[in-house]
Amino acid sequence: MSFKSLGLSEALLKAISKKGYSIPSPIQAKAIPPVLLGVDVLASAQTGTGKTAGFTLPLLHLLSERPAERHRPVRALILTPTRELAAQVYANVREYSEFLDIRSTVIFGGVNQKSQVSTIRQGVDVLVATPGRLLDLHNQGLLSLKHVEIFVLDEADRMLDMGFLRDIERVMKIMPAKRQNLMFSATFSKDIKKLANGILNHPAQVEATPENTAVEAISQKVYRVAKGKKTDLIIKLILDGNWKQVLVFARTKHGANKLTKKMISEGITAAAIHGNKSQGARTKALAGFKNGTVSVLVATDIAARGLDIPLLPHVVNFEIPNISEDYVHRIGRTGRAGAKGEAISLVSADETTFLRDIEKLIGEKLPVEIMEGYEPDPNASTAPIKQGGGGGRSRNSNNSKPKTAKSSESKSSHNSRRPKRTNDRRSKS
Ligand code: AMP
Repeated sequence: MSFKSLGLSEALLKAISKKGYSIPSPIQAKAIPPVLLGVDVLASAQTGTGKTAGFTLPLLHLLSERPAERHRPVRALILTPTRELAAQVYANVREYSEFLDIRSTVIFGGVNQKSQVSTIRQGVDVLVATPGRLLDLHNQGLLSLKHVEIFVLDEADRMLDMGFLRDIERVMKIMPAKRQNLMFSATFSKDIKKLANGILNHPAQVEATPENTAVEAISQKVYRVAKGKKTDLIIKLILDGNWKQVLVFARTKHGANKLTKKMISEGITAAAIHGNKSQGARTKALAGFKNGTVSVLVATDIAARGLDIPLLPHVVNFEIPNISEDYVHRIGRTGRAGAKGEAISLVSADETTFLRDIEKLIGEKLPVEIMEGYEPDPNASTAPIKQGGGGGRSRNSNNSKPKTAKSSESKSSHNSRRPKRTNDRRSKS
């Protein structure tokens, strides 16, 4: 299978080869043909599968074949949940349209709207946007979506997680009823299916099956560790392994800040990225992480959503997520586009239930190790971590245990009741 055999134009093939892609990823091979046919598409794909090119390439092909009106109204709208993802998708649109007569721009909140408005005024064919700023500019009469022919809803599950349902419905009302719709989502809850029913018209359904995604190329491992020893363990892993690019997930903004500070005090270049950071600080941290001046990026789930960091070698779950699907999203940041990656989870006793839920979701038991000197506390309670402060989302599992017993793990670093293990490896049976 080649990009050429998918029927893409010469100008797009040139841009693809400039990007260095030789063969389409599975989701691209499956999604591009129906999009080119002009039908609606419902695609199941997570970040890391090459989904962005999966919708951008055929979208650009279609637009470039249809003559643009002189005033260049917006003919394709790509809606994304976060500013970072919007910026990344836009960067892709620009690269792929380099040899086409297609104009594009991106709009998102948190920055002055002036330059965004002036670019739109000059006319753009493809608009990449987050819902808030889009509606804001529309309400001010500064943009029109009356000529939209193709609508893409990217990371639809994240959109719902972030409470954008109403905004999506508003956006739908200001576009023409007759248009082509493409919806991408990593997970398919009841709500997502309902949303898809409302947006899509007899869609072609495509998916990047798990064996085709990057997940296979990821080696996953769990360290069982006392809660109070997690910080020391992660620092040891980073320093001993001489890791130069590590994405670390923390459950709370406060936890992310604390961990970052500690790492910096140990001589590791680290930066935190979360909802309380300004757009400028987030962009700076991400840029530093990409260019190698920052080795460790400590992120919360919401902030990390959609970050495009190619060839990321290490992802560490400092705390594992209480929503199992987030685990798959997190580790999808590594082992991308064929590169090998390592996903490590530090799991304390109070995360045992979450770990079981994750193993149930991914259908496999994760290999467990214990590092000498960083053993779990055998007396710690396995009652799940109390929720709150983690972004306000609730856990959707039903095997949550009552949150009564207090965790004693934080004191475990001084626990001498337990004999030391002689070997630091152990396999969970
Ligand atoms: P995405 O899932 O769209 O975020 O893409 C994940 C990563 O894969 C990005 O860094 C892309 O540049 C890269 N990528 C996308 N398509 C291909 C391809 N056909 N071959 C190699 N890399 C690709």
